[in-house]
Amino acid sequence: MMSKQIGNTLIQTVDLVKEFEISGGGFFGKNKPKVHATSNVNVQVNEGETFALVGESGCGKSTLGRLMLRLIEPTSGYVEFEGVNINELDNESMREMRKRMQIIFQDPYASINPRMNVYNIIAEPLVTHNVCATKEETKERVMELMKKVGIRPEFINRYPHQFSGGQRQRIGIARALALQPRLIICDEPVSALDVSIQSQILNLLHDLQDEFKLTYLFISHDLSVVRYISDRVCVMFLGKVCEIGSTEDIFSNPLHPYTKFLIDAVPKPDPFLRKENKQLLKGDIPSPVNPPSGCRFHTRCPYAKDVCKEKEPEMRIVDNRQVACHIV
Ligand code: SF4
Repeated sequence: MMSKQIGNTLIQTVDLVKEFEISGGGFFGKNKPKVHATSNVNVQVNEGETFALVGESGCGKSTLGRLMLRLIEPTSGYVEFEGVNINELDNESMREMRKRMQIIFQDPYASINPRMNVYNIIAEPLVTHNVCATKEETKERVMELMKKVGIRPEFINRYPHQFSGGQRQRIGIARALALQPRLIICDEPVSALDVSIQSQILNLLHDLQDEFKLTYLFISHDLSVVRYISDRVCVMFLGKVCEIGSTEDIFSNPLHPYTKFLIDAVPKPDPFLRKENKQLLKGDIPSPVNPPSGCRFHTRCPYAKDVCKEKEPEMRIVDNRQVACHIV
């Protein structure tokens, strides 16, 4: 892949906390149990890069993506986009800001309205934000976007069920591009697709990034995909950031024990490599309602010491990356 021009911070989170109260908890009175989805998360995404959020299901990566778009409000902390605290914006200013922050959803089948044809799906954001002066101009822009994502413009009146899964994801990408955003949050964008189609969509995302100088926040549980597309990786466990580093550093020399486990778990084609140094974790993922004290990973970590149960590890810079572990 071509080397990229990475700029300054485009979006960052500052001590971002999101707790969801568990509904129907009448038994608990005012002290309803809460799911600790993200806890004091500080991440910076730079202009022009692909920043991946990885971790097992329930680690808080999708919640973090939604917080960064302000689709949900944080319990505390805030998100800064283009240097502006977006959690302080009123509805009108947020609406303007959203033009520059878009999302591609996981499931192209579910994220596209089956009753709308391709024209309406891609034109909707253009019409909502009064981007084009006339219907003809809107149609021209839609056809241009279709060409950019590899859908033939003559299919403009077709419906989603007339396309394959990969083509539907292309339509979702065209819709996300319509308002010429700076940031696109890609929430598991290829996990519902066949492997051969996955690489086509990843290559398309890469080409579009080059052409439109896009910044991607790429949420995925699939480390092979992350390794292919991302410039930097942020590993999360139970709402906390464990490690942030360049893709090369994270994959060639993971430092945090949880990162090591995730990298070890990636299937390897060589049967001899498969047996090498596999690290096994103890127990199940703890409940996000009642996360472990100290380091949240200590109940599963093969290297845990007494201090890990008592004291939360601080984020430190080690070997060119950020890592939160007492023993690294
Ligand atoms: Fe393991 Fe302790 Fe490091 Fe947590 S702080 S990852 S429990 S060694």
